[in-house]
Amino acid sequence: MLTREHERYFKLDISELITKSSSEQRKALLNKEVSAVELTMEVYRKIESVDEKIGAYNSLTKEYALETAKKVDEKIRNNEEISPLAGIPLALKDNINLKSYSTTASSKILANFVSPYDATVTKKLKSNLIPIMGKANMDEFAMGSSNENSATKIVRNPWNLNKVPGGSSGGSAAAVAAGEATLALGSDTGGSIRLPGSYCGLVGLKPTYGRVSRYGLIAFASSLDQIGPLTRTVEDAALLLNVISGYDEKDSTSLNQTPPDFTKDLRNDLKGLKIGYIKELCTEGLMPEVENALKKSLEIYKSLGAELVEISLPLIKYSIAVYYIVATAEASSNLARFDGVKYGYRAKDAQSLYEMYVKTRAQGFGDEVKRRIMLGTYALSSGYYDAYYKKAQQLRRLIKNDFDNAFKKADVLISPTCPHTAFDIGSKIEDPLSMYLTDIATITANLAGIPAMNVPVGLDNSGLPIGLQLQADCLNETKLLNVAFKLEEAVQFNYGIPSTALV
Ligand code: GLN
Repeated sequence: MLTREHERYFKLDISELITKSSSEQRKALLNKEVSAVELTMEVYRKIESVDEKIGAYNSLTKEYALETAKKVDEKIRNNEEISPLAGIPLALKDNINLKSYSTTASSKILANFVSPYDATVTKKLKSNLIPIMGKANMDEFAMGSSNENSATKIVRNPWNLNKVPGGSSGGSAAAVAAGEATLALGSDTGGSIRLPGSYCGLVGLKPTYGRVSRYGLIAFASSLDQIGPLTRTVEDAALLLNVISGYDEKDSTSLNQTPPDFTKDLRNDLKGLKIGYIKELCTEGLMPEVENALKKSLEIYKSLGAELVEISLPLIKYSIAVYYIVATAEASSNLARFDGVKYGYRAKDAQSLYEMYVKTRAQGFGDEVKRRIMLGTYALSSGYYDAYYKKAQQLRRLIKNDFDNAFKKADVLISPTCPHTAFDIGSKIEDPLSMYLTDIATITANLAGIPAMNVPVGLDNSGLPIGLQLQADCLNETKLLNVAFKLEEAVQFNYGIPSTALV
């Protein structure tokens, strides 16, 4: 005779379930086919078996995750209502604070830092009883596109271990792609959610600037940074945005507006909607498979009744230059606080306060971070301020004007997220300019403050994911998610990595 345990075992393969979307996991939780603790433990088993190869996590937060899962189980047992993502395992980027656990931003300078407080998004995850599995690896201080700038270890792309996962939220993305979490939070300053989303076959969403509180996020470039979801499905991204968005008096740039239910328009008809393909990003220099995937998606939209229009954003060619002035200027100021005095790493053997600052920063920061601090300090120094920083700000405004005009002609803009798929580990790290160019399509959304997301649409000839980027006007996330959902539905991207990828 079968025991109840056996029956459950035959009905449901938990190792399979952890690779599915949150709604499938929720169903299993509510049907009592699996408990939240079992689900969490299964994900930890996965982490144990694959993370040595992938490097997605800097640290695990097992005690907190299991404590949360237990609370979820108790509620289910008592037939109490649970929030839509309760019990669904999540990876938190290691630049977002979780009280009493380390926040390193993958930097040596914060290696021994334990956060004394929760970020606002973390508080929201907590009140929704979402188990936080661990702190996800990233490029140091979120500076990079490949995750090779982590002081901890590199992250490998679960689809092909010789490839980068994209950066800077590479650990968050790799964790979700490999089944080491169902959901993840990343941060996006110039593409750091969308690029890893694209390279790892995930949905990645950067919300409108101000939509999500930055309180408790380690600042890189404050006028560009936004926290957002990395998930397997568009619906999961909408659900997670429901959890993390909303006004926060602790972030002065937070929007004082009640967010809508981001799932409400997902299934809307696209008839009559205008989809604008960005001329400058859709024609030259694309990998042939990326170009094909784009063409196919445009056909899909046409068949769904949307109207295609060509959009020109002529100033896109300046966006990398503008970004690397604005972002580095803000970074040079934000990172001034890491000086060995109040927290983090402190160099030994300094003879004076000044020497302590210098040695701490020289030893504590990695090369890319130093490069950014130097560029930013230079751009802000007297005599150069007008020539560089002021000009960059003026151009930023003009780029925003280009978008304002574009959104008079189109509801949602489409382009590849990156001109190519994931590249080889080590192939760009010696050449910062070619690394910076991977963000050509993503950076402008941060400069303009608009919401933008990656949607996986297919695979290239070597089996690596291809992603397309959709962008909408400020506060139009519901429309953006609707357009993404319809594409996802039509392309039927199989969001699981092939079973052979990790062997
Ligand atoms: N790759 C870009 C950079 O290195 C963007 C990083 C990000 O969005 N955090 O700055």
